[in-house]
Order: sequence, then structure tokens, then C-alpha cells
Amino acid sequence: MDGFGLNSLHECERIIGAEDIFLETNRTGEHYQLSRFHTNTCYRLSLAMGIGGNREVFSRRLVDELAASRINAEEVSALVATGIDAVLLAGTLQHFRVFKRQPCLTYVYERDGALALREGFVFEKDEKVLLVHVAAIRFQRIARIIDLIQSSVSGSDQQPCVEGFMVLLDRSPVGLDWRAPLCAFGSIVGMRKPIDAFPTNPKMCPLCVQGIPLGDLSETV
Ligand SMILES: [Zn+2]
Repeated sequence: MDGFGLNSLHECERIIGAEDIFLETNRTGEHYQLSRFHTNTCYRLSLAMGIGGNREVFSRRLVDELAASRINAEEVSALVATGIDAVLLAGTLQHFRVFKRQPCLTYVYERDGALALREGFVFEKDEKVLLVHVAAIRFQRIARIIDLIQSSVSGSDQQPCVEGFMVLLDRSPVGLDWRAPLCAFGSIVGMRKPIDAFPTNPKMCPLCVQGIPLGDLSETV
């Protein structure tokens, strides 16, 4: 039995808990708006993603979960990264050779407020697509990207098929059931670290009530 899996999870948690990427209201005296919630705990994972060794640990964690998922790695022929940090993660995954054939890699970006696939990218016939995502709170972006991929048909004989998605960090609040609308797809969750979610209404958020200023951390998850 390869013990690396457990070590991988432990090491991932150590990286995410490192002081330079972990922000909490007790230390900063602020709180944050993420997705449609206010919260007092968030991570700046982009800092951790900039270090190759960290990306390798994160990628290994996802690979550990892949074997237990409904996703058949031998079928995957394309990785779609959902952002810049996800490109780094997906690029590292390619090196692990867990896929039967080396999948191509493309990414999604925002253009005029709408999601778009990298210009010039065309899916092959019957492409088997796996999304790579860093952190999700409500999983709506993943759902939107799946819709985008499935509508990206350039010819009548070219129908990409989304096998599923990998998300390194599930930050959905306790009780939020994101799986229901996405249950048709295989999913891999590397780690589960829910946020403490408060309403954005200043009268209902306890942090707002305390008068703690709202921080602006657009790259935080
Ligand atoms: Zn608040």
C-alpha cells in the first residue's frame, strides 16, 4: 500500500495552512466577500501555486483521488483549466502520466463578462474532457464551463463529452448541496475546507454587525 496518499493530504493542508497564504479575521481585523457570502476565513492559493513543489503536492493529491472516482483516466483526452492557477495545476498533472495518452490542455477565460475557450482551440471528435479547478464555493463556475464546453461544437461530428471535474479545494458552506445539479458528472475533490458563510446583508452578517471592515481580496478563495 502506497502511503503517499496520506502524506499528500497532510502536506496539502500544511501548505494551505502556511501563514503567508492563510488569512483570518482575528489577525487582519477584516472579513471578506467570497462568491455571495461574507466569511472570516480564506486562502490566497495563487501564492502557493507559484511554487512548483506545492503544485506537485496538490496534483498528487488529485491523482490520489482519481483512482476512487467515476472518472476513467484512460479515457481523458483533454484537460480544460478554469483559470490561471488551474492552468498551473493542470500542467503539473500532465507530468504524472496518469492518463493513458497525454491529454491536450486548454483553458477558459472571461471576455466581456462572458466565459470563453482559448481562441483557436477546437475539440477533437468525441473528446473526453476533464475540468481542472482550484477552489469552488458554489460550483456555479464549473456548471457554466460545462455548458460552454458542451455548446462548443464546431461540426456535426464533433461533440465534446465532459467526463467530470477535479477541484482541489471544496469550500462550499456546510449544508450547500452543489452535487445535485452536477451529479451527472464524475467529480474529484482533493480537500474539503468549508467556509463559515454569512449573509451579505450587513444587518445579518455578524462580522458586519461588529463593524469589521470588509477586505478587498479579489484573488482570495
Ligand atoms: Zn459581513
